[in-house]
Amino acid sequence: MNQEKALVVFSGGQDSTTCLLWAKKEFKEVETVTFNYGQRHVAELDCAKEIAGDLKVHHHVLDMSLLNQLAPSALTRNDEAITHEEGELPSTFVPGRNLLFLSFAGVLAKQIGAKHIITGVCETDFSGYPDCRDIFVKSLNVSLNLSMDEQFVIHTPLMWINKAQTWEMADRLGSLKYIRENTLTCYNGVIGDGCGDCPACELRQKGLNEYLQSKKGGDE
Ligand code: ZN
Repeated sequence: MNQEKALVVFSGGQDSTTCLLWAKKEFKEVETVTFNYGQRHVAELDCAKEIAGDLKVHHHVLDMSLLNQLAPSALTRNDEAITHEEGELPSTFVPGRNLLFLSFAGVLAKQIGAKHIITGVCETDFSGYPDCRDIFVKSLNVSLNLSMDEQFVIHTPLMWINKAQTWEMADRLGSLKYIRENTLTCYNGVIGDGCGDCPACELRQKGLNEYLQSKKGGDE
């Protein structure tokens, strides 16, 4: 086990909770940070707080409400519908959001003495966010190191795996049931299996079905 400290960028969703469980296996000391940017559902923050408590990790909440000011989107304003046209960025898109989150996480990591930063971004189910791509994360890693004269290492355990494989990872970490029941991915703020109708629920359920199907096949 790595004896150094790690900071997990954590939203209370399936991906970042899987990353948190992964980090707890890999690093001796783990803390988490959640960004409060006026999410559509306060449930998201409560959910993150709850999970951090369950997993006994220190939980930082940083106020990022300035994002609201920079790019009002469907995630932060109730009067805008969530739409996602084929080939276009979803209306939840906030340009540069991950750039900002990871940069602030870097500053916090410096303050708490964490060398490792973990984020659940993924290029496989690439939804059009350029600052979630591997090349960007590597580039920011260099910039953060230069900006603070540090040797941070940004880890992206989900970068090259799909949703089904993320469920498989949760299972291998012994936490499939926990993640299925306690994390929040749903745009309508329903914890666990969610509302079942929104794009986030559809993606999550599709991945879960795929994994459970392949597991069943493997057992036989
Ligand atoms: Zn939903």
